[in-house]
Amino acid sequence: MGYLLNRDGFTRVLQKLAENRRLYAPVNKIGEGRYTDVDVVRYDFITEAAEIELEKKSDYAFKEILTPLSETLFFFTENEVKEADYDQREVIVFLRSCDMHAVKRLDAIYLENKFADPFYKRIRDRVRFALIGCGHSYEDCFCASMGTNRTTEGYLFSVDLIDGLYHLDVKDPDLAPLFAAEAEKEQDVEARYVTENEVKVTIPADVPNSIYKDGLWEEYTARCINCGRCNFACPTCTCYTMQDVFYTDNGKVGERRRVGASCMVDGYTNVAGGGQYRRTNGERMRFKVLHKIVDFRKRFGYDMCVGCGRCDMICPEYISFANIINKVNQAVEGGADNA
Ligand code: SF4
Ligand code: SF4
Repeated sequence: MGYLLNRDGFTRVLQKLAENRRLYAPVNKIGEGRYTDVDVVRYDFITEAAEIELEKKSDYAFKEILTPLSETLFFFTENEVKEADYDQREVIVFLRSCDMHAVKRLDAIYLENKFADPFYKRIRDRVRFALIGCGHSYEDCFCASMGTNRTTEGYLFSVDLIDGLYHLDVKDPDLAPLFAAEAEKEQDVEARYVTENEVKVTIPADVPNSIYKDGLWEEYTARCINCGRCNFACPTCTCYTMQDVFYTDNGKVGERRRVGASCMVDGYTNVAGGGQYRRTNGERMRFKVLHKIVDFRKRFGYDMCVGCGRCDMICPEYISFANIINKVNQAVEGGADNA
């Protein structure tokens, strides 16, 4: 069912939805970017239509709502353990198509990897989605190459802002009366999606083991500064580490936290005895890239990268993940000059 709403009407719908839910959407944060006077689009809780950034692509992903950067799992004393409480309200997250596909990857990693992660599951069970249509492609997007440019299911409603009106395709019949009550007009609505991007990548079907020794990775030992920004902006990077925090007034009492980690930073592969599996930034890049376009596919049948381009946007060294994919493809085809 399709509806056209003006801004006030859509805000009233959102306020109704927010009576027993939280709404999480991309928001343009004025002046909060990397430099003075630079804006940044990141996810936050919203209550009004005007707060949702529907035109710009978000610089950071939505994933903190599903995998918080720091999450207390349980508290412990000398004798007992208590699981941490969590917010049990439903959340509606506004996502573009590529990010809807990223949720599928997160679900695969946390729910289908031999056993379901209970801490992820308890959050995930309460998360629903609203689809943001894409009226055009953005710089660095390569979703069409990754097959993530369109989503037709798995969301409550879609939203496109066209000529000042919110075009909404409401998939959930229970929510339809809410939208109908505020609609200026009812008509068929289809979420917009792009069919091609300026950036194109070719993923090799089979990657021989010789790629591990290929010279192409050495460039990144020199260029990458292992800051980890690419991992934190990526909607499908899920690595974490554990921290036990002991309270200072009683050294045997504290809490265990799961905190975000990055495969690109120093210390990530440290093991007992002073060992380190991947010492150079080139080796770390090789691991990250091949995980995204080779190893995940071997396990789940599709690629982990969804082509959102956020890692390219955020890298301070202007390293392009899309270019690396194409270099891997050239190396596999034997046409690359990797000297
Ligand atoms: S690797 Fe880069 S392009 Fe692929 S999903 Fe992550 S941030 Fe997006
Ligand atoms: S953002 Fe760029 S420089 Fe930083 S770790 Fe990632 S690839 Fe390296």
